[in-house]
Amino acid sequence: MTLHIDTDLLIGAALEPGQETRERVLNPRTGALILEVAEASTDQVDRAVTAARAAFDGWARTTPAERSAALLRIADRIERDAEGFAALEALNCGKPINAALNDEIPAVVDCFRFFAGAVRCQHGAIAGEYLAGHTSMVRRDAVGVVASIAPWNYPLMMMAWKLAPAIGAGNAVVFKPSEQTPLSALKLARIFAEVLPEGVVNILPGRGETVGNYLINHPGVDMISLTGDVATGKKMLQAASKSVKRTHLELGGKAPVVVFDDADVGAVVEGLRAFGYYNAGQDCTAACRVYAGRKIYDRLVADLSSAVSTIRLGNADDTTNEIGPLISLRQRDRVASFVERARELAHVEVTTGGATMGDGGFYYRPTVIAGARQEDEIVRREVFGPVVSVTPFAEVDQAVGWANDSDYGLASSVWTRDVGRAMATAARLRYGCTWINTHFMLVNEMPHGGLKQSGYGKDLSAYALEDYSVVRHVMVRHG
Ligand code: NAD
Repeated sequence: MTLHIDTDLLIGAALEPGQETRERVLNPRTGALILEVAEASTDQVDRAVTAARAAFDGWARTTPAERSAALLRIADRIERDAEGFAALEALNCGKPINAALNDEIPAVVDCFRFFAGAVRCQHGAIAGEYLAGHTSMVRRDAVGVVASIAPWNYPLMMMAWKLAPAIGAGNAVVFKPSEQTPLSALKLARIFAEVLPEGVVNILPGRGETVGNYLINHPGVDMISLTGDVATGKKMLQAASKSVKRTHLELGGKAPVVVFDDADVGAVVEGLRAFGYYNAGQDCTAACRVYAGRKIYDRLVADLSSAVSTIRLGNADDTTNEIGPLISLRQRDRVASFVERARELAHVEVTTGGATMGDGGFYYRPTVIAGARQEDEIVRREVFGPVVSVTPFAEVDQAVGWANDSDYGLASSVWTRDVGRAMATAARLRYGCTWINTHFMLVNEMPHGGLKQSGYGKDLSAYALEDYSVVRHVMVRHG
């Protein structure tokens, strides 16, 4: 298949090249240049915000059925071109083609379809007489123009999570993909130009400090939505404070995995092998911080290390690969330096992995770090790579205390055969999500989002529609 690559940005109804610096887009498998994408100029950002403002009034007044139909058209078009989208994600992010085609694209399509349904059955809020002779009602209306900014780890899926509820709720959006992974967004731009009214979605590639920074500070923007790093989230809050913009922040994670002595070790190992390393661990919910009961600890470390050593990556036949490289040399070096610092600690053992691989690409071997302690950097900081630490614990209060002792609060899991223990532990964890005897599983019907510095606001589910809309009170005087 010859792969056509779009490089134009979308402003209103027009596809046009960016006017600023040409950004190099690299193939993470080889480090080679794919092509250059010119980022948007400030004039183009201004025009995109103006186009979104102009579109907002009409779009917000469309019926849910009309917006639903638009979301369904987008879903159909992505599904029809699933192989083209998957090929772009595989090329730009180094994802194994099967993961992109069979895991991500169906989830992206389903996200648009879910919101197409959800927008038509939002629950009616209260209406009644709270003052004699007056009827009050509560409406949910769109916020306005949303500046939506996405990361590089799941470019198309994060785009779907952010755009589907935002436009479903009646907002207009100016979307900026990561400068490292703009290709699938620019392909989708062409589809938006055909199936959406002019200006409802505008797409501007470019760097964070240039296009992103100008966009989030723009007076024509009502809301900022970011999936990205905690430090970037703080910049969003500073920008938002100047004109009191709404914010929706999905930031990093460092998911604790509490494994009790009675857990099914085989299931835990299988789960960690999959959910600790999927997408090369570049996932904010990755099962990366394991706390294991003392009786199960040795076996878990041994079995996990041998299972992880069999994860397939870097094969010439991509259909056999389970994970890909990291996104960039910088990210790979960052991951490697975390492991090197951990390795220097006398109590730590790197039981498998712990090295880069191949030449040219940005591969890092799937790694297990045994014996890590709660105060160690490898346990506390987000690595965002194929690295899982295992720490023994003595009793449940210690495990829960350590699990909660984190600046992050996105995802967690508990592994035990005892239902009561599972429920009691899940209730004490301060995380947006707790899985029991699994990890990582997401469905479009259920909310995804964090506590603490992992941010706030929910992606997916009817809660996302709430986040991208505002509650308003309308009161009518009788007679
Ligand atoms: P990042 O914060 O560096 O970049 C995210 C986006 O923000 C990019 O599009 C970038 O260009 C933009 N940006 C950066 N600085 C900006 C600025 N000053 N103004 C405006 N925009 C700016 O994050 P990343 O490296 O792309 O992604 C990895 C991070 O994202 C990880 O920390 C990860 O945990 C997090 N993440 C979180 C979730 C979640 O749901 N909570 C999901 C995926 C990724």
